[in-house]
Amino acid sequence: MKVFIDYDTTLVNLIDPWVAWINKKYNVTISSNDINRWYFLGEVFGREADDFWRSKKYNHYTNKEILQPFEGAVEFFQTIQNMFGVESTFIVSSTRDHHKEEKIEHAKHFFDIDATQFIPVNKEKYHITKDGILIDDYPLHVMEHVKYNNQKGIVFNLDNRFGWCRRCNYSMDKTLKDFTHVVEDEKFSIATSYEKILKELDYA
Ligand SMILES: [Mg+2]
Repeated sequence: MKVFIDYDTTLVNLIDPWVAWINKKYNVTISSNDINRWYFLGEVFGREADDFWRSKKYNHYTNKEILQPFEGAVEFFQTIQNMFGVESTFIVSSTRDHHKEEKIEHAKHFFDIDATQFIPVNKEKYHITKDGILIDDYPLHVMEHVKYNNQKGIVFNLDNRFGWCRRCNYSMDKTLKDFTHVVEDEKFSIATSYEKILKELDYA
């Protein structure tokens, strides 16, 4: 069995530097708890709110101070590799072409991966994750994976502080509207720590 793990806000803390950038740029005081749907920041502040990770102007993957792994992420990734094998452990990450090279270097630096373990995607992830488990903070990616691939999918919501991952907020996210039934599927789950993911994968 393969394991596909998302990068941004699953292994690497993209959200807190992004929110800090938003707070400064727009002179507000929001937190990741307030982001109750995937497109919240773009809808509330406008398209430029996504520049932090989207624009060619910023390439934060070159900066190993700003974007760092969450605490425990490196050990978690190593544990997954030990459980499933290096050859079956992949990072699958929505990636802009203009960030691709630096993002792969970033992942190699922190997670000591082979470049073949990093799969950059620019379309739906479920096309890539047919034969494995997907772990991702974006509920839509997990829901599509469970629905179309009939494989296990885990939404990662570290310490339950990502508003967009919370089941009670799913009705506010119109990208999820065709997948409401998936939350009842036994292959769908939400984990609030790396330890809980490992338990989900039957590892004590
Ligand atoms: Mg993510």
